[in-house]
Amino acid sequence: MDLLPSVIGFTEFRDLSFQEHVRLRSCVLGAMSDNLHLSRPLPVILPNRATLIGRFHHRAMELASKAPSIHDLDAQLDQEIEVLQREVDSWPHLRRCGSVSGWDGVNQAIAVAERATRRRASEGATVRPELTLRSRDGLLVGRLDLFTVSGTRGILTEYKTSSLRDERGAIRQEYVDQILFYSVLVFDNHAIEVLIARLESPRDGIWEQEVQRAVATDFKARIVNLLQEANRRISTTQSMDGLAQPSLEACTRCDKTAICSAFQRHQFEIGLTGNEYVLDGIVDELVTAESARTVELGLSSVGSGPRRTLRLPAQMAVDMKLGGRYVFTGLAGGSSSLRWTDESRIFVRD
Ligand code: SF4
Repeated sequence: MDLLPSVIGFTEFRDLSFQEHVRLRSCVLGAMSDNLHLSRPLPVILPNRATLIGRFHHRAMELASKAPSIHDLDAQLDQEIEVLQREVDSWPHLRRCGSVSGWDGVNQAIAVAERATRRRASEGATVRPELTLRSRDGLLVGRLDLFTVSGTRGILTEYKTSSLRDERGAIRQEYVDQILFYSVLVFDNHAIEVLIARLESPRDGIWEQEVQRAVATDFKARIVNLLQEANRRISTTQSMDGLAQPSLEACTRCDKTAICSAFQRHQFEIGLTGNEYVLDGIVDELVTAESARTVELGLSSVGSGPRRTLRLPAQMAVDMKLGGRYVFTGLAGGSSSLRWTDESRIFVRD
């Protein structure tokens, strides 16, 4: 059982990455990382197939930016697939995911990486792959997949494994926002006059558009407003609760659900669909089933919620003590009952 961190304090945002900016739009606390001071690191969010594919994709692009040939790239990708397979095999909740070399997303990422390697070999432009840039005022920071510059013309490319389009057929707003965010960084760091932003996906091919400097400047102004508003709230709020804004969009895959009391109070109202419920309770009863395979816990609530029972595999409860306070994450069910799942974990308060 791992220890949960306690909150030591929080400070204002000094800068924002694109992902932090996306999270900040729905929850100030959810967006915090370096500015949330904790006694120990937060629990790692369990990976799912989509996040593993996303990570593999970025790694493939990183390799594609440096590999001397397709042959070398493929050899390195084979090694990455082995690493990924070992990780998948190590997680109980992923044991039905099978062989990663058969995953569509993995094969699409390989195809995109191979194409990028070929294009790199054929283009005369200066290539800056996986480039981290910071805006001139230091407020925005981001890592571009690929940027090529030829004279005063730049091309910014983001590679996606999923479809570029939403259910209405329009380019997904999050992708448009991402290229605008990165356009700000490019204009601030390169003396270019024309910037082409390109999205590339194995499902939809290439979509590209010229980004005007004025559009990027306007987008930046909106982010700065958001950041200033968040910092105003941080400077006037005494508790973590005052910064939390629970919602389905914000809380899904947030890394703070185990320590966020606002989430735990509202989790049954926001429409969670996965195994994302959290239970914080003090063990007041511990009964081992006759088969000795499961244990049923009686848990008195730490907050204002009702007393609950939870059945879990006996091996998970060997170190548990009556009177101990534990936080259970990754539970399924709903307000009437909660169930242990392959994604469940137990933590002790720091
Ligand atoms: S769990 Fe929800 S409310 Fe709490 S910090 Fe995360 S996003 Fe915000």
